[in-house]
Amino acid sequence: MTRPPAPEPLPHPVVDNHCHLDIGRGDDPAVPVPEALAAAAAVGVRRIVQIGCDLPGARWAVEAASAYPSLVAGVALHPNEAPRLDSLDEAMAEIEALAGAHDRVRAVGETGLDHFRTGEEGRAVQEESFRRHIDLAKRLDKTLVIHDRDAHDDVLRVLDSESLPERWVMHCFSGDAAFARACLDRGAHLSFAGTVTFKNAGDLRDALAITPLDRVLVETDAPYLTPTPHRGQVNASYLVPLTVRAMAEVRGDDLADLCAAIDGNTEVAFGGAW
Ligand SMILES: [Zn+2]
Ligand SMILES: [Zn+2]
Repeated sequence: MTRPPAPEPLPHPVVDNHCHLDIGRGDDPAVPVPEALAAAAAVGVRRIVQIGCDLPGARWAVEAASAYPSLVAGVALHPNEAPRLDSLDEAMAEIEALAGAHDRVRAVGETGLDHFRTGEEGRAVQEESFRRHIDLAKRLDKTLVIHDRDAHDDVLRVLDSESLPERWVMHCFSGDAAFARACLDRGAHLSFAGTVTFKNAGDLRDALAITPLDRVLVETDAPYLTPTPHRGQVNASYLVPLTVRAMAEVRGDDLADLCAAIDGNTEVAFGGAW
């Protein structure tokens, strides 16, 4: 798979608040971490939240965040991982141990609901896993990072039946303006990915346009969701400027102001500077 060229650097640093540095794409292995961090920093993406999605990924995220000052970690069992486990109890016990033992772990996530990849038969355990992650985020005072794919109403139903953690993020926000409002009213930060640059994403851009400046975040979800004009190639944190520039245009924000807001919002959303 080809790697897109580096875009023009941003006028102010931002954080990529959702990335999978450990995951390759197609036949390509993941880029070595120092190389990925250097490429990102060169265009103004100075800090990254590394998200681990299963037990090996969660261990990897904790090690990487301990080794590199620009990284902090989120650990969880991904909604599509939960139904595949032999024992949710045992896996959750390890996620709790990892999250509880390391201050470099700022988030519990990504957790949530995915009705696209998980069928009816897996949904009960997926919801149970979501509820346990919500509980864990509250008990450990970590940020809850939510994955929601084709499950907006059920995500709200679950959130409304639990008490919410102090800080929570809708990662790769994918709803319209009304759903954005519902999440914002409940205290969410909304994180926008490369999908906001896609041609058919008018509803998503409407959602971005109504999100208050102090609740906006940006992410890659790399190696997935590569922004226009590089769809189909490998995504990475150094491509965040393409997404942020598109966001500034949609919102009518000054680019440097939006970057500064995103940088500060990410610290608020993830429990302080690092
Ligand atoms: Zn996700
Ligand atoms: Zn992700």
